[in-house]
Amino acid sequence: MAKVDNFQEMCVKTLKESGSRLTKPRLALIDCLANAKVAMSPKEIFQRTESLLEKSESIDTVTVYRILDRFAELGLVHRVSPNGDYIACTHLSCATSPHIMTRCTQCQAAAEMHIPEDIIAPLLWFMRTQKKFEPKEHLFQLDGICEFCVNKDPKTV
Ligand SMILES: [Zn+2]
Ligand SMILES: [Zn+2]
Ligand SMILES: [Zn+2]
Repeated sequence: MAKVDNFQEMCVKTLKESGSRLTKPRLALIDCLANAKVAMSPKEIFQRTESLLEKSESIDTVTVYRILDRFAELGLVHRVSPNGDYIACTHLSCATSPHIMTRCTQCQAAAEMHIPEDIIAPLLWFMRTQKKFEPKEHLFQLDGICEFCVNKDPKTV
């Protein structure tokens, strides 16, 4: 899948540009996130990454936390609140337009969505000029109920 390859390529590029070393644990962690279908907890990421590494290369949870912190700083991954699971950024090649991370409060499904510039621009303008708050992150989170859960139980709407 082009999208997954893209994430891995973009990670390698970003790490190189930031002067970070491309260690085997880092590359394994990138693979793990690229293939994740849902947001994963650091513990799940640790287990999956460990299984991708050769027996001779060990990794511990502290290293996984450190790598995830670094990746989040570089914008390669996002943390989903409030449980602190991680999700790969699926919009690394988008230069503009902030994204919205949706999280379903029932099934916990999280996804990063591309929002057209003209829809988001008035909100950012309002925050900047009326609220004197400068939005910096390329993503913010909206909690709600996903399409699947709405259809499953119409009473929840
Ligand atoms: Zn993103
Ligand atoms: Zn749901
Ligand atoms: Zn995008």
